[in-house]
Amino acid sequence: MSWFTRKDKGIQTPTEAKREAPDGLWYKCPQCGNIMHTREHKLQAYTCSKCNYHEKIGSQEYFELLFDDTLYTELDPTMTSDDPLHFKDTKAYPDRIKATERKTGLKDAVRTGYGQVQGIDMVVACMDFNFIGGSMGSVVGEKIARAMDYSLKNRIPLLMISKSGGARMMEAGFSLMQMAKTSAKIALLDQAKIPYISLLTDPTTGGVTASFAMLGDFNISEPGALIGFAGPRVIRETIGKDLPKGFQSAEFVQEHGFLDFIVDRKDLKDRLAKLLEIIWVKPA
Ligand SMILES: [Zn+2]
Repeated sequence: MSWFTRKDKGIQTPTEAKREAPDGLWYKCPQCGNIMHTREHKLQAYTCSKCNYHEKIGSQEYFELLFDDTLYTELDPTMTSDDPLHFKDTKAYPDRIKATERKTGLKDAVRTGYGQVQGIDMVVACMDFNFIGGSMGSVVGEKIARAMDYSLKNRIPLLMISKSGGARMMEAGFSLMQMAKTSAKIALLDQAKIPYISLLTDPTTGGVTASFAMLGDFNISEPGALIGFAGPRVIRETIGKDLPKGFQSAEFVQEHGFLDFIVDRKDLKDRLAKLLEIIWVKPA
């Protein structure tokens, strides 16, 4: 018999009154269940110490990981979306934007800025999946295009970090135009011989895969990232066949020739610096 038994039956503790560890102190890996201290998880670049699962992170985290002394200057930080189509689904589009801004503290689904990565000047554009699924609307396209203009003008290599569900349906055709706009800018970078490196992270799909994410001088990815155009269910139903194992994983995509290499996030900064040392001669 245990030394303590509850005498009265039917005592219920409401969930909110239950004492638990403070939120945000521990991280549980969704892939293997490993439990890590959040501080340790952050030190490991938000990867699992046991199975190396790469947790999805936002632009703020990537900027802090990449830029020397976490110093960078943000470009166009206040640009926000208009509502060209007066679009309404369950919510009017401007209301959805405002609610998402409040929830995430972000203005749209990409952050752009410049700074130094191991002493090398670099422009970085990084998408945020938390902002309407990292969808590519006019602001995303415009901010990326302007980051590329900054690269061109100052002759600085550009790193694009993609994480997106694709086009933003609330902007329909305006969203699709961003594919052409960003692709045209990449052609200008190419002509000017300025390196454009594209890092595809989990997940990169739709119109983003079909434009700037796959147009890098180097297309690289993180382990296990989902990369594709349409989702597996749509493809399965279209072709009427089962899909091969690991279909649309970074490893599968690399094996089929679409990626140059897969990089562990903990090594990202080093690998980028080494790559640029090989392909890029810094202007005097
Ligand atoms: Zn794990």
